[in-house]
Amino acid sequence: MYPADFEYFSPRTVDEALGFLARYGDDAKILAGGQSLVPMMKLRIASPRYLVDVNGIETLAGLRRVGDRLVMGALCRHADISASPLVREHLPIMLDAANLTADVQVRNRGTVAGSLAHADPAGDWPATLLALDTGVTIAGPDGVRVTPLGEFIVDSYTTQLGANEMVTEVSVAIPPQPSGGAYVKFEKRAGDFAVASVGVQVELDERAHCRAVAVTLGALGPTPLRATAAESLLQGKTVSDELLVDAERLVRESAEPFADTRGSVAYKRHLAGVLFRRAVSAAMDRAQGLAVATLRP
Ligand SMILES: Cc1cc2nc3c(=O)[nH]c(=O)nc-3n(C[C@H](O)[C@H](O)[C@H](O)COP(=O)(O)OP(=O)(O)OC[C@H]3O[C@@H](n4cnc5c(N)ncnc54)[C@H](O)[C@@H]3O)c2cc1C
Repeated sequence: MYPADFEYFSPRTVDEALGFLARYGDDAKILAGGQSLVPMMKLRIASPRYLVDVNGIETLAGLRRVGDRLVMGALCRHADISASPLVREHLPIMLDAANLTADVQVRNRGTVAGSLAHADPAGDWPATLLALDTGVTIAGPDGVRVTPLGEFIVDSYTTQLGANEMVTEVSVAIPPQPSGGAYVKFEKRAGDFAVASVGVQVELDERAHCRAVAVTLGALGPTPLRATAAESLLQGKTVSDELLVDAERLVRESAEPFADTRGSVAYKRHLAGVLFRRAVSAAMDRAQGLAVATLRP
C-alpha cells in the first residue's frame, strides 16, 4: 500500500524543525530513521499531513562522551552504537541491544531516540536503557528539559512528548567500575521483535557484592518494566545460586505479559525467568572482567 499524501520539510536546525512542529501541531510528525514511521504510513496506521525530516540537522548526528555521560544525538543510529569503542568498553549491555535489533539495513537507518519516541513495548532500546541512568532531552517552544527514561515512556506507544516537541539527545551515565551489564532477547526468528527480553546491569563493591543492580523486562508489559523486588533481593549481596532461585521467581512475578501470536502468558513468564538467568550470569562475568559475546539464545 502507498502512504497518504503528505508535505515534506527538511530543516537544517533544531529551531527550524521546532518551527514546523509549532505551525502544524498534531498534523506533523518527525521523520528520523523512518524504520517504524514509514511502515506505519504505508499501512495507513499513521497518515501525517506534514513530515519533518530531521536527517539534515548535522548537530543531531552521532555520539560522544561528555564528562561521565555518553551523549547520543537524536540521529545516533543503532549501527553507531555497534561501532563505538566507548560502548564496547563501558556499556556492553548497549552493544547487545544494538546487535540484536532487527537486521543490518534497519540498524543503519533506525535511531535510538526514534525507538524511545516510538515506545513500542517490544522495542529493544526502551528495555535496555531503562537498566541504566538514562535521560531524554526534549526541546520545545518553552525551551529544553531532561526527563528520566522511566518517566518519558508513559504507556504503550505513548510518551511525554507534546505535539510541538522533539527529542534532541539521549544520554546515559557511564557506570563506575567494576560493573557489567547484559541484554538478552528471545525472538521467533533472527532479527524479529522480542517475544520477551531482559536487561541486567550490576555494579560491584570490593567484596564482589552488588552495590547497585537493575533488572528490566521488555515485551513483558505495556511498557518496559523494572523488576524491583528482584533488584531489592540482590542489592548488597553476593550473587549465589541459592539467591538466584528466589530472584528468578521474583522476576517472573514482576512480568505483566499478555497473550498474542508470539506466545501465551505462561510461556512469556517462563521466558522472563530463563532470560534473567542468562542476563545476570553474563552481566556478572562482564563485571568481573570476562569477555562475553552478544547473547543470541
Ligand atoms: C524489518 C524491521 C525490523 C525491526 N526489528 C526491530 C527489533 O527487533 N527491535 C526493535 O527495537 N526495533 C525494531 N525495528 C524498529 C526499528 O528499530 C526503528 O528504527 C525504531 O523503532 C524507530 O527508530 P527510527 O529512527 O526509525 O524512527 P522513525 O520511524 O523515523 O520514527 C518513529 C516514531 O518516533 C518519532 N520520532 C523519531 N525521532 C524523533 C525525535 N527525535 N523526536 C520526536 N519524535 C521522534 C516519529 O515521529 C515516529 O512517530 C524494526 C523495524 C523494521 C522495519
